[in-house]
Amino acid sequence: MDGTAIRLDGVTKRFGDVVAVRGANLDVDGGEIVAILGPSGCGKTTLLRAIAGFERPDGGVVEIGGRSVASDGAWVPPEDRGVGMVFQDYALFPHLTVTENVGFGLPRRDRTRRVPALLALVELCGLGGRYPHELSGGQQQRVALARALAPAPRVVLLDEPWSNVDPQLRAELRDEVASVLRPLRVTALLVTHDREEAFSLADRIALMRDGGIVQVGTSEELYFAPADRWAAEFLGAGNLLPGRARSGSVETPIGVFPCNGAAGQVEVLVRPELVALAPDPHGAGEVVAREFRGHDVFYRVLVGGVEVVSQRPSNEVVPLGARVEVRLHEGRVAVLS
Ligand code: ATP
Repeated sequence: MDGTAIRLDGVTKRFGDVVAVRGANLDVDGGEIVAILGPSGCGKTTLLRAIAGFERPDGGVVEIGGRSVASDGAWVPPEDRGVGMVFQDYALFPHLTVTENVGFGLPRRDRTRRVPALLALVELCGLGGRYPHELSGGQQQRVALARALAPAPRVVLLDEPWSNVDPQLRAELRDEVASVLRPLRVTALLVTHDREEAFSLADRIALMRDGGIVQVGTSEELYFAPADRWAAEFLGAGNLLPGRARSGSVETPIGVFPCNGAAGQVEVLVRPELVALAPDPHGAGEVVAREFRGHDVFYRVLVGGVEVVSQRPSNEVVPLGARVEVRLHEGRVAVLS
């Protein structure tokens, strides 16, 4: 689908006194995979259900493929929105076989041709006669995905599809789903509270907090340039250093770096893996703590009166108590608002 596949404009949904979604805005391009990422209870599922048509917003507009499906004057029921949904618990029909589950929403005449093709797509050929309880969690999920894709929807919505799966299998299933969705150029919106899941799978991330979408961008944009302190901390470990900004640069205890727009006293985010340590007897920093974690090592370095965390590969050994020069890769800092 070319152009904007999903557009949300000021979408709001209340349950009594609880404002589950407040004024959410988002544009998703055709063929994009976008993750809605946020902590538990921030309104992700409610927003997804509003797009699917299972919740009726109290305000705002939902557009799918340029057509208004929920607004003051319009309401299109879920079955007419051209949207497939994969639920958290897969919601397969327990009394139907795999073939019957996948073909459930299809006209009878299309089933014979389309179901085998869908089973091949999700690599479940030969399992069509089984019932859901005879499948592993990962296989059940593939059935749910095939069922969602059966009517050739323009948009697929996935609600925490891997929440019941162990971490190792999660990564595998994530790759599988992406490899099914990408060649089809289906637009997908994925709800998750797992930042690594969002980082690794999505073209863009919509970060959600307290019912609102607070930042939208690629994984790198959000990770290295989060909108504020909350986003910085939610998206990963970081050093929050005091800084003084003026004329396009910011002065911090570990150096002066370019920055945009800000002036005066600010807080500066520096991700620990960008902080390099060069042993130097005259260096301004001192290693005051060292924590070996296997694939990497975390150092605490006292420099310019503040403690800075540096994450280094475990083959780079800097002893406790060593004097070091602290350097920042690519001068990559973010000034937080
Ligand atoms: P999680 O990651 O834990 O699934 P979420 O981000 O998907 O959370 P929602 O399930 O959308 O969040 O819930 C948002 C808020 O709306 C919560 O405070 C929740 O308790 C409330 N809520 C959701 N559905 C209902 C409902 N049907 N009736 C009343 N309150 C609801």
